[in-house]
Amino acid sequence: NMLEKFDRYPLTFGPTPIEKLDRLGKHLGGKVEIYAKREDCNSGLAFGGNKLRKLEYIIPDAIASDADTLVTIGGVQSNHTRMVAAVAAKIGMKCLLVQESWVPHEDAVYDRVGNILLSRIMGAEVHLVDEGFDIGIRRSWEKALYEVKARGGRPYAIPAGASVHPNGGLGYVGFAEEVRAQEKQLGFAFDYIVVCTVTGSTHAGMLVGFAEDGRQRNVIGIDASATPAKTKAQVLSIAQHTATLVELETEVVDDDVVLLDDYAYPRYGIPSEETKEAIRLCARLEGMITDPVYEGKSMQGMIDLVQKGFFPEGSRVLYAHLGGAPAINGYGYTFRNG
Ligand code: PLP
Repeated sequence: NMLEKFDRYPLTFGPTPIEKLDRLGKHLGGKVEIYAKREDCNSGLAFGGNKLRKLEYIIPDAIASDADTLVTIGGVQSNHTRMVAAVAAKIGMKCLLVQESWVPHEDAVYDRVGNILLSRIMGAEVHLVDEGFDIGIRRSWEKALYEVKARGGRPYAIPAGASVHPNGGLGYVGFAEEVRAQEKQLGFAFDYIVVCTVTGSTHAGMLVGFAEDGRQRNVIGIDASATPAKTKAQVLSIAQHTATLVELETEVVDDDVVLLDDYAYPRYGIPSEETKEAIRLCARLEGMITDPVYEGKSMQGMIDLVQKGFFPEGSRVLYAHLGGAPAINGYGYTFRNG
């Protein structure tokens, strides 16, 4: 177990289910088997999602630091900020969220429904800031930390997506270990893992976890940031740092980060016609909801790769469903005709 020596604060139900997407696989020609690992169903905390696995290895440090306020940042419809608000409520801390205008939107209620609505209900203090998309460290976030201190609070800083934090990559190392245990029970191993990548620590953690059995390049990242050079560099640096933490024996190199940048268009947070088609197809064949910002794009990518013959015949493909469905409430206009 690569994670034994790290403190973990449980926020999830336990191992997430793996489900076969039979009707989708058949619809796409039946040459590959498609499965989904349902990280979207991983917890009772405010609809769950991928950030909880990461936060399980960050919260022990927040508690040890004697903080009283979790401070983080994201877009207006950020899933990550919702997850931090839920965790703050659960562990009895305050929460300050900086929510930037990363996405131009058509919906009149975009900043009142979905993720931001849930965060407000859970008692987080929400600061709306007019700044564009960027996965890096932001001035507005540093300002928020300063503000909490200025009023006598003790902030604990969690970066966007819980990624550029020393422990940000650990949670998804655990994902790989969990998949390996599930593969033993299933009696087969997955040939490819498809994951949506933006701030990078989900992909980075998986890469390190699957490097243990030589599968790091079988983790196929689908970029949804539309700033793929920056995202790829961030995945690499988090993976290299995480590899050192868990004392991985092989070195992580640039070519280990497989990041496909064909599906993020037209920009972060805006679904293309093809993304919308993928969301509808998966919903209509499987009843599985993916969102227009993240999982709809990785679903679109996986569908396209299957159709292009990227995966050899007979491959077993594992789609990591990372959550994010609440954001769909901000896209009522996009889907007004279904
Ligand atoms: N999918 C969902 C639903 C997310 O909320 C996020 C968060 O950014 C991602 C995928 C991308 O994960 P990461 O930021 O770790 O690359």
